[in-house]
Amino acid sequence: MKKVIIIGAGIAGLSAGIYATQSGFDVTILESHNIPGGASTSWRRKGYYFEGGLHWLTGSSSEMQLNRLWREVGALDDTVAIYNRDPFFHYETDGIRASLYRSPENLRAHFLEISPEDRKEIQLLCNDIRKFSRVQMPVTDLPKLKVKYPSKFPLSMLFGMMPAFSRMKHYQNLSAKELGGKFKSPQIRNLLANMIGAEYSASGVLFTIATLAAGDGGYPAGGSLAMAGRMADYFETLGGRIVYRTKAEKVIVEDGAAKGVVAGGKALFADAVIVTQDTLNAIDTLFDEPIREPWAEQMRAETSVMMDVFIGIGVRADLSDMPESNTFPVSEPIRVGNLVYDCIGFNNYAGFSGYAPEGCTALTTVLIGDSYDFWKNAAENGTYALEKQKVADAVIREIELKYPQVVGKVEVTDVATPLTYERYLNSYHGSWMSLMKKGDTNRNYPCKPESIQHLYFAGQRLVSPGGCPVALTTGRTAAQYLCLDTDTVFQGAFSCGKKGEN
Ligand SMILES: Cc1cc2nc3c(=O)[nH]c(=O)nc-3n(C[C@H](O)[C@H](O)[C@H](O)COP(=O)(O)OP(=O)(O)OC[C@H]3O[C@@H](n4cnc5c(N)ncnc54)[C@H](O)[C@@H]3O)c2cc1C
Repeated sequence: MKKVIIIGAGIAGLSAGIYATQSGFDVTILESHNIPGGASTSWRRKGYYFEGGLHWLTGSSSEMQLNRLWREVGALDDTVAIYNRDPFFHYETDGIRASLYRSPENLRAHFLEISPEDRKEIQLLCNDIRKFSRVQMPVTDLPKLKVKYPSKFPLSMLFGMMPAFSRMKHYQNLSAKELGGKFKSPQIRNLLANMIGAEYSASGVLFTIATLAAGDGGYPAGGSLAMAGRMADYFETLGGRIVYRTKAEKVIVEDGAAKGVVAGGKALFADAVIVTQDTLNAIDTLFDEPIREPWAEQMRAETSVMMDVFIGIGVRADLSDMPESNTFPVSEPIRVGNLVYDCIGFNNYAGFSGYAPEGCTALTTVLIGDSYDFWKNAAENGTYALEKQKVADAVIREIELKYPQVVGKVEVTDVATPLTYERYLNSYHGSWMSLMKKGDTNRNYPCKPESIQHLYFAGQRLVSPGGCPVALTTGRTAAQYLCLDTDTVFQGAFSCGKKGEN
């Protein structure tokens, strides 16, 4: 049996590992952390459970092609409840709250009620949401690959997507802020601008709303860590091994082919290596010579990436009287280095059993933006802990101002900065997704380099904008290349008669 080493037990590494093991390879995953999941993670602090990854999962709905893959890798099955929050997002100012309802009909009625003068733009937006909601991430197989259960992408699905294609360019050429700017209502304007980030391409906003409109984008019970745990368990059930607390230092390359990995100073030999450490970092750090293929140079040049400061807040009060999420303007701008936040949002996990001690509530806030240099300087000049506290205090102050029931009840704060993510993920500046800005089109990087044989890449960085679905599908594609190069039949989970049945 051919030996494969995978670097990283995030969603991409687990996906590649499961598909490769199913197809008969002897797979070992090396993971530097002591748990699986990578950026898709959640953690406990003093009895509070903070969801630090998944907010919505594309492919959570059984109507989506991608759902089959989530089931094939054991991430989802019929026992995993999916929570489809509706409305999904809110923006509140001047006592009026705009809510992002999932159904385009409900959304249209609600927006018209708030802002009849925006009728024309509301109609256009809701019509386009309907068009975009027919777009799915295609699940296909590599050409010439022998596949036991081929994936078909029905023509009818392609035709269904056509109306959205004609509107794609329009949204790609707008930023989220410009899309919001088309509306007179400050609530609708800010809801659209702040949903995923003002500088993000408006096409990302449309796709996100359309995913929700299609009944997709749910939150699996137990969140990120539970999902990663199910995948890791399934991988081990199939016979794969995960070696935790083991950082791969180098990929061994001899005669133009990957021959294994150096970890803990020891050489571990294999017939193939799949790298799921952030590709942008891996191409410069994991090889004696950085990878210099044209796609790698292009990736180095495109460093628009998603980073955040994450603030977990444990509140000694039952906050089920507060909304499940809300975004609102702050009384005083919150500064993180050069970044200025005029509004903040939170997720409220009051309704989630086990996320806080009895009678208490976990809140989370994510400040999206590139504050990497600020935190790096703070760490160097010894003010890192102080600056983290300042950001947490500012966020708590604003939440307390808006929600007096929180005043004096905060008992736990937990702040993760880009440096935290960098330390745990080994990713470029602690980023965990790509950022598609105005004018950007989707980027696709290869899973298989040309200059080194038996080497494959997978992970969020390979297809913009990234996220868990990209980690899943690129992991599968890497395993398919492995099968293609070794003339092995790609199995998929159907052959195991368990996880993938649909
Ligand atoms: C706050 C936040 C919210 C998010 N929300 C969503 C969401 O709602 N929906 C969604 O789809 N996505 C979301 N994401 C993004 C998503 O979590 C990531 O894009 C995805 O998990 C990336 O998976 P990956 O396997 O490609 O990479 P990673 O998760 O980075 O996994 C790489 C793994 O490799 C390990 N590793 C790295 N280098 C080495 C080495 N040299 N040796 C050994 N091990 C190594 C790391 O420890 C890590 O476990 C969110 C992320 C964050 C942080």
